[in-house]
Amino acid sequence: MLLRGGGLSRIVWLTAIGLTGAGLLGAWAPPPQRLDSPEPLSHVRHTLPTAEVLIDAGHGGIDSGTHWGDVMEKDINLAISRKLYIVLRGRGIKAVLNRTGDYALSDDNRWQSASRHNRDLAQRKGLSDVIEPELFVSIHVNWSKKRGNRGPIVIHQDEGRSALLGAFIQDGLNRQQSSRRLPVPSNKYYVLNRVKVPSVIVETAFLSDSRDREMLISPRGQSRVALAIADGILAYFCVSPS
Ligand SMILES: [Zn+2]
Repeated sequence: MLLRGGGLSRIVWLTAIGLTGAGLLGAWAPPPQRLDSPEPLSHVRHTLPTAEVLIDAGHGGIDSGTHWGDVMEKDINLAISRKLYIVLRGRGIKAVLNRTGDYALSDDNRWQSASRHNRDLAQRKGLSDVIEPELFVSIHVNWSKKRGNRGPIVIHQDEGRSALLGAFIQDGLNRQQSSRRLPVPSNKYYVLNRVKVPSVIVETAFLSDSRDREMLISPRGQSRVALAIADGILAYFCVSPS
């Protein structure tokens, strides 16, 4: 019921998934409050966050993702996501970041009795439904047992606009990391299957590879990765019909 369309139901939904609190970095800000005359609901609707790009910082809280010693994927994802947010905003793209600290998104999801992992995934998808961005970009770090596996891999929803977005981001990261990998279509991942807008999972580089790792854990390397992803997103917006 809460997912069905506009007006009040969307506001109830927003509250239910915890979006009305802090923790969402983006265009949203509470309106000035006038205690003597309560705002009509039509005004409240303006408080909904809007975005061209929803940046999904992978994992968080109890879910660390992959790790190398005490270097956690969730921390690298967050660092790159924050930098990507700043770069995009600096270039005039409205971006929203769905996690601004080290916590699990499942903690915000109190409306489902599913497993923590499924609540986490549903929360990421739910945020996308509410914010209605033009693009969904999920930031991750890869791991391989096989030596020599390095470089970026962009996995995209198996449809045209996602493929285009994936190709541009892959190209940006390939240039940045001197790689020649190709983007990969997939329908195996929950967010790629469920999110209704063009969406990609960006496996930025391999934490298992020493050269990649050096880049992933250094602020300068993280900035270069974020810039390359932003270049891809901007290239997509240049050619895609909106
Ligand atoms: Zn991951």
